[in-house]
Amino acid sequence: MGLYAGSYTGSCLCGGIQYRVDAELAPIQLCHCSQCRKAQGSAFASNSPVAKSSFQLIAGADLLKAYESSPGKRRFFCSRCGSPVYSARDATPELLRLRVGLINEPLPAGPEFHFHTASKANWLAIDDGLPQYAGEYPAAEKTPDA
Ligand SMILES: [Zn+2]
Ligand SMILES: [Zn+2]
Repeated sequence: MGLYAGSYTGSCLCGGIQYRVDAELAPIQLCHCSQCRKAQGSAFASNSPVAKSSFQLIAGADLLKAYESSPGKRRFFCSRCGSPVYSARDATPELLRLRVGLINEPLPAGPEFHFHTASKANWLAIDDGLPQYAGEYPAAEKTPDA
């Protein structure tokens, strides 16, 4: 069975966690906050919010662990290989924020903006012309911080 438009698969580094998302992915948001930098081991997190109802974990439920990085906010990761998978907030239980580097298919669009750039790594220059927000992005009250 082939993929249809709006369907994506994701897998962690070891392959133990496999998921499927049946939804059009929202534009990618790049979070430069210090928590995301440490969670990714990189300059930023590449996130796309999706409805939890469109996310299906196919394999690896036993491997998927969460770290509560701030009250009510959990970062889910593979406990075997360490891949960050998604984050979730108690305040928006219907929403997951996928770490899009795990998605296997080409994505339809690139990043939309950078946020929390006030805490970005000093070794990375942002010169792609995308909007930059020092803190949260304007619509964050609807889809809170990564
Ligand atoms: Zn893994
Ligand atoms: Zn962040």
